[in-house]
Amino acid sequence: MGKVITLFKLLPKLHQMLLCGLVFVTLIIIFMPSDDVQASKQTPSTSGEYDVNTRYDVPLAFRKPTPPSASMSESTPSQRTSSEKLAFNTSEQSKKQALVQATDKPEIQEPAAPKLKEKRFQVKSGDTLAALFDRAGLTAKDVYDVTQLPKAKKDLLKIMPGDNLVIAKNDDGKLVQLRYHLDKITTLIIDRTDSGYKEQIVTKKVEARSKFASATIENNFWNAGVNAGLTPNQIMQLATIFGWDIDFALDLRKGDQFAMIFEEEYANGEFLKNGNILAAEFTNQGDRYTAVRYKDGNYYSEEGRSMRKAFLRSPVDFKYVSSSFNPRRLHPVTGQVKAHRGVDYVAAVGTPIKAAGNGRVIKSSYNQYNGNYVFIKHNDTYTTKYLHLTKRKVKTGQSVKQGQIIGTLGSTGRVTGPHLHYEFIVNGVHRNPRTIKLPKSEPIAKKEKAQFATLSKTMMAELEHNKQVQIAAQ
Ligand SMILES: [Zn+2]
Repeated sequence: MGKVITLFKLLPKLHQMLLCGLVFVTLIIIFMPSDDVQASKQTPSTSGEYDVNTRYDVPLAFRKPTPPSASMSESTPSQRTSSEKLAFNTSEQSKKQALVQATDKPEIQEPAAPKLKEKRFQVKSGDTLAALFDRAGLTAKDVYDVTQLPKAKKDLLKIMPGDNLVIAKNDDGKLVQLRYHLDKITTLIIDRTDSGYKEQIVTKKVEARSKFASATIENNFWNAGVNAGLTPNQIMQLATIFGWDIDFALDLRKGDQFAMIFEEEYANGEFLKNGNILAAEFTNQGDRYTAVRYKDGNYYSEEGRSMRKAFLRSPVDFKYVSSSFNPRRLHPVTGQVKAHRGVDYVAAVGTPIKAAGNGRVIKSSYNQYNGNYVFIKHNDTYTTKYLHLTKRKVKTGQSVKQGQIIGTLGSTGRVTGPHLHYEFIVNGVHRNPRTIKLPKSEPIAKKEKAQFATLSKTMMAELEHNKQVQIAAQ
């Protein structure tokens, strides 16, 4: 640099001035911002924008991914496609997405799609379609036009609080698309076309998957069911299937086991709900019971005998009865145990009591010993008696169906606490309803026998296989 200055000083004055001018012009050209440089100012990622020795706050976007945006999702095209398809079906996500995915061809490129604003509106209590459209910035004419469509008329005019409507508008604020989820799998879609609004129902394909669950009962059936991953509804279903064979209120013991195969329904990989129990096995105090669901919707034992029998083992649902196995709970009326001719179920006052079988009420009355009581004659052989009820719900002479509520549990009459006293009488003799051998149930129809046998064999093998797999995994 020093040499350059010395050389410069040796030059004549005129040359010095010319050289200075040239350097000046060159510098101006170099530093005059070109279009490119200006453009790069909008994108701070260009390193040339930053001065050395100056501290810059790096925008968060550099360190952390921002919420989904067009540019980000483009970097992962496959993911985007799948999320769009999902968004097409779930209202939750659809509000975040542009309308592209709502068309029938999710492959349409974003730039080509019209610019639409879509928003989700929730139906409020007292809302009408007109009120909601008004909130959405739509007109009474829009309400009229849309409800000219038959399905829209049927479904949109009875919207319920909590329902959601997704409304998409174009730049002019005109309604372009409306989506309304009728249920988890069905959506009503209304689109604006050149020839007016068109409507269609889009239904997701429901896929059934079978699932296995099993448990060994430690202290009560309910907990075992919950631990096996069953819902309360499934636990009750299982108890209902075996409710003619097992008294779930009083007869379960530690070590009892169950295993079952049931259906789960999915749509686009999304869990919808549990389906039916397809096959089940219950081992109670060493006795093994099996059930297979047939296409008629009924359950049969693996040999093809109906699970339905003339009598329920228990007139009280187990969920109301003290669930512990403590045997003292079975006999709450101390002093009566010796002369006891029935079974006592201890549960809360008001617990519903069911008729054990079809029959006719031969007595519905009150006395000081029995309190409110109901006697049912089922046929010439069988009679059942229900004592100490709070309320009777049937009258003398009335016909009753199996499972029908005949009254509620109470503590009327001579008792020390609320319970149901239940008697089972066979040819005038008191018998234990929990152990008595009852007539065999109906076999499956002859013409169904072969088909059922094949199904039963398959289901029982699958149940057994799953049990073995589970044992091996332990
Ligand atoms: Zn009793």
